[in-house]
Amino acid sequence: MTSEQREFKHFINGLFVGSASGRSFDNVNPVDGTVIGRIHEAGRAEVDAAVAAARAALRGPWGRMTVQQRTELLYKVADEITRRFDDFLAAEVADTGKPVSLASHIDIPRGAANFKVFADVIKNVPTETFEMATPDGGEALNYALRVPRGVIGVICPWNLPLLLMTWKVGPALASGNTVVVKPSEETPATATLLGEVMNAVGVPPGVYNVVHGLGPDSAGAFLTAHPDVDGITFTGETRTGEAIMAAAAKGLRPVSFELGGKNAGLVFADADFDAAVDGVSRAAFANCGQVCLGTERVYVERPIFDKFVAALKARAENLKPGAPQEAGTGIGPLISQEHRRKVLSYYDKARAEGAKVVTGGGVPDMPEALQAGSWIQPTIWTGLPETASVVREEIFGPCCHIAPFDTEDEVIRLANDTPYGLCTTLWTRDLGRAHRVARQIEVGLCWINSWFLRDLRTAFGGSKQSGIGREGGVHSLEFYTELRNVCIKYL
Ligand code: NAD
Repeated sequence: MTSEQREFKHFINGLFVGSASGRSFDNVNPVDGTVIGRIHEAGRAEVDAAVAAARAALRGPWGRMTVQQRTELLYKVADEITRRFDDFLAAEVADTGKPVSLASHIDIPRGAANFKVFADVIKNVPTETFEMATPDGGEALNYALRVPRGVIGVICPWNLPLLLMTWKVGPALASGNTVVVKPSEETPATATLLGEVMNAVGVPPGVYNVVHGLGPDSAGAFLTAHPDVDGITFTGETRTGEAIMAAAAKGLRPVSFELGGKNAGLVFADADFDAAVDGVSRAAFANCGQVCLGTERVYVERPIFDKFVAALKARAENLKPGAPQEAGTGIGPLISQEHRRKVLSYYDKARAEGAKVVTGGGVPDMPEALQAGSWIQPTIWTGLPETASVVREEIFGPCCHIAPFDTEDEVIRLANDTPYGLCTTLWTRDLGRAHRVARQIEVGLCWINSWFLRDLRTAFGGSKQSGIGREGGVHSLEFYTELRNVCIKYL
């Protein structure tokens, strides 16, 4: 990206516009702490304009398109993201500091795939018909029209910016809605770039809009409280979800929430040991631990406990922190200094609560040029009670606590003893046990002998305080569409 392009303006009605207030804030590179751009902060005026543009597009050209025309455009969006792969990669890496090897395999390809998958879903989804007898002895036919919900507010986090944003924008647009996206204040780049893509392939102005800014008393709160937004889809922290739900209550707008987690990994003694170490290592440390599906609580059956702790320690110590482009970089920085302060406060709490620090627990030595980045050591603890803060609260860093267990019932109880319910990973060769445990774990997703395997047609979401609703495949349509019943009497 050129320095000129790193001024992040809002994308409203097909145009890049600055804030009328002139307010803006820094875009910081987490790798070395340098300021790499300015982000305009939307006030009520920009949010109003974006929502009005989205409403006009819904009633105008976008609303009049056939499913065929709409889905052809979404295929072009996917192709254009792929054509500009290097631009998206550079933008995502600059914002997040994540290794190029990770972003090029996960974030950007999934960003493109999200448009194709949901274009296919909407083309193939059936609706219902019922014939009924009428009181006068005749007959009537009922059929359901699947109609878009309307203008959708999309509020996104910073950990997988393009991937998680398109996971919502893809099905929203495929279903015929229009959107106003509020990317995270930490990661404005790829959402902005997607505006260029929309214009390039001919998506009508107003269909896809972006407003930048913060959450409370800023673009996020203005968007979620906006009376002309028909539904709000949000990925982020559970506490933020509570604030957004309160805002959505006014006007009775429905919400779809993908929230925090405190996911457990359960490793039985009969597991394929190397596969389990590999899977838990990825689940704990990938993306510097900033994955909602990550594992921060690991329970290992007692006979293999010591061996497992030693093996995971070796994996953690083998992750080389470094610049995103360097071959051999195994782990990037956290997203910001503020987030690092939060994660380090948990590292301190773990020590204060009596943890044995198996590895890590602080900040790594980095070359001088990178010292102002938000680097942190992958960390493993043992020896804490289940009541300890780092065992109960979501940290969202590259760390986990490992505890031994003795029986299947005990580990199910431990895994479920949390207000969260996003996912669990389960490592065993015993198929009977795998099915039994999966049935009893209170989560939205349960992986057996794997982690982060995602078929985008399947239901994705959390139980308990980890979410409301399911997205993915046809399940996304429960939020992004409504069924309108048409009843026609045969004459
Ligand atoms: P966050 O909740 O702090 O922020 C997310 C977004 O909400 C940002 O765009 C922010 O500006 C906005 N926001 C904050 N307060 C707001 C308010 N009052 N009104 C409207 N918008 C507001 O989350 P984060 O720190 O960006 O992301 C990390 C969190 O996201 C973790 O808890 C993680 O588990 C969760 N997450 C969940 C999933 C999932 O699928 N379940 C996926 C990724 C991340």
